[in-house]
Amino acid sequence: MKVLIAADIAKEAIDLLSDDFEIELATGLSEDELAEKIAGFDAIAVRSKPKVTKKILDNAKDLKLVARAGVGLDNIDLDTCKERGIKVVNSPTALSESVAELVFAMILSFNRNIIKADNGMKKGLWEKKNLKGTEVHGKTIGIVGFGRIGSHIAKIANGYGMKVIAFDVNKDEEMAEKLGVEYKELDELIKVSDYLTLHVPLIPPTRGMISMPQLEMMKDNALLINTARGGVVNEDDLFKALSNGTIRGACLDVYENEPPKDSPLATLDNVLMTPHIGASTAEAQTKAGIIIAQKIIEELG
Ligand code: NAD
Repeated sequence: MKVLIAADIAKEAIDLLSDDFEIELATGLSEDELAEKIAGFDAIAVRSKPKVTKKILDNAKDLKLVARAGVGLDNIDLDTCKERGIKVVNSPTALSESVAELVFAMILSFNRNIIKADNGMKKGLWEKKNLKGTEVHGKTIGIVGFGRIGSHIAKIANGYGMKVIAFDVNKDEEMAEKLGVEYKELDELIKVSDYLTLHVPLIPPTRGMISMPQLEMMKDNALLINTARGGVVNEDDLFKALSNGTIRGACLDVYENEPPKDSPLATLDNVLMTPHIGASTAEAQTKAGIIIAQKIIEELG
C-alpha cells in the first residue's frame, strides 16, 4: 500500500507509517501536480492544505482514504469522496488543549495590557500608572459550545477560580457535573457572562449567532472571544459594538475572510487579533499527525 504525504506532517507520524507502508513525501504541489502524482496511491495525508479537489480525486483511481491532520474538512471535496467510496478521517481531539490555552493567553493578555506594556517598555517608557488591569478570578465565563475545546476551557477556568456556565444544543450532564459547569439558555448566558467564549462549529444555525441583539445583551464590561469560526460572529455588528462601548473588547483568532483584508476591526484598540493560530503548537501538530497515522494504519493495515 502506498501513502502520499502531501503536507508537513509530524516526523513521529511518518515514522509510524513507514513501518507498514510505502511512503512518498510531496508537499507544496499545485492542483495539477497533485492530480498527476496521486495515481497509484492508496491514501493521502493533508492538513488545511493542499485542497483535495474533484480534479485530483478523478485521477486517484486507487485512493481509499483521505486523512486530514486537524479538524476542518473544508479543503476536501467530501461529495466526490462519498460518491467514490473514499473514506475521510481527521484528528479533532488533537487540538483542544492548544485552542483552550490560546483563549486564556488572549484573555489574560487583554486584561493585563501585556502587548501595550511590552511595546511601551521597548520604547523606553515606564507606563505603570496607565496599565492597571483586571482579574479573571471570581468572574463568570460563558462557554458557547461545550464540546472538546469548551470542556478544556472549563478545566482551565476552574483553576483560575472562575464561575463557569455553558450553552450547548446537546447537553453532556455528566461532563458538566464533573467540571462544576451549569448549563444556561443562550440569552441568559450572554447576559451574565463577563467573558463569552465561542466553541461551536460554523453551520447554518450558528452563522451570525453573535450579532447586534446578542452583543447588546452582553454586559458593557464583557469580553467576547472567538476562536471558533469567523462566520459565527457578525463582524460588522461587532465593529459597531466595540466602537460605541456596547462591550469592553474582543479577542479574535478567526475571521469571516482569512486573511481579513483591510478589516475595520484592526483599527480598534479594544480588539486583540491573532492569525488563526489556535492549533499552531508543536504538541497539537504532533498529536494530529500521530492520530491520523494510527487511523491510516487502522483503515489500510
Ligand atoms: P466539538 O464538536 O467537540 O464541540 C462543538 C460543540 O458545539 C458540540 O458540543 C455541539 O453540540 C455544540 N453545538 C453545535 N451546534 C450548536 C448550536 N447551534 N448551539 C450550541 N451548541 C452547538 O468541537 P471542538 O473540537 O470543541 O471545536 C469547536 C470549534 O473550534 C469549531 O468551530 C472548530 O472549527 C474550532 N476550532 C478552531 C481552531 C483554531 O485554530 N482557532 C482549532 C480547532 C478547532
